[in-house]
Amino acid sequence: SLQVGHDLGAALMTARALERERALVRELKELDDYRTQLFATLSHELRTPLTVIAGNLELLGGLELDEAVARLHGAMSRGADRMQRTVDDLMLLARMSHPRHPLVRLPIDLRAVTDDVVSMLDSTARAKGIALDTRLADASLVVPGDATEIDQLVGNLVSNAVKYTPPGGTVVLSADRVDEHVVVRVADTGLGIAEEDQARIFRAFYRTENPAALSEPGTGLGLAIVATVVERHGGRLDVASRLGEGTTFTVALPAARAG
Ligand code: ADP
Repeated sequence: SLQVGHDLGAALMTARALERERALVRELKELDDYRTQLFATLSHELRTPLTVIAGNLELLGGLELDEAVARLHGAMSRGADRMQRTVDDLMLLARMSHPRHPLVRLPIDLRAVTDDVVSMLDSTARAKGIALDTRLADASLVVPGDATEIDQLVGNLVSNAVKYTPPGGTVVLSADRVDEHVVVRVADTGLGIAEEDQARIFRAFYRTENPAALSEPGTGLGLAIVATVVERHGGRLDVASRLGEGTTFTVALPAARAG
């Protein structure tokens, strides 16, 4: 009977531990839903007044302004642009996290995505004296996915690499086929990311305290979008970095079946 009592006690403890775990999972899920809802509400609430501000700034820009007013107008326009980018990013994050927004998968060729991203960022890189190189394997680089999301994924990684690499550095964007995955890699010779920051940078609004990184404009939403897109596509995401030396982000996405 001592043994029976012991087994019963152990079973009860296991049951309690399980119950606690379930409660914790429920709580985390609620918190996550709340965050998603908050992002959606925030971005919607900000969008309407922002449209009014941007529209009126545009009208004002069409008028003849004296120099002082033109300067103010420029500053306000830049502020509105920046806010617009934040709201767009927030809306994308909220949309991707919404349970009724399933992923529609079409064949996306990473070759075309790479071309688009490079043509968009090439002049920025050049102006900064950064060499932006691409290395694409000959194999099929097609993944089943959402075109807008894959564009954002690659675009955010490359724009970060250009942004956080000092003049004279190099950014290499490569895409390769490894077994059943297309592996996209963005390597830079930039500022690098401290070990303790490497897990945090994927959180929404997180920016490292590195003064050189903070002096660049940003919202801290780019990598949260990257992580969400990778997760939705059933891929894997990795960062390897050394402070002051550079950073490599590696993304593996399930490849489309041949045929
Ligand atoms: P943002 O660039 O708008 O600040 P992100 O979510 O894209 O936001 O990145 C989060 C933080 O991670 C950045 O603030 C920066 O400190 C760091 N980071 C991202 N990419 C790089 C990179 N390639 N090299 C160094 N630091 C990076």
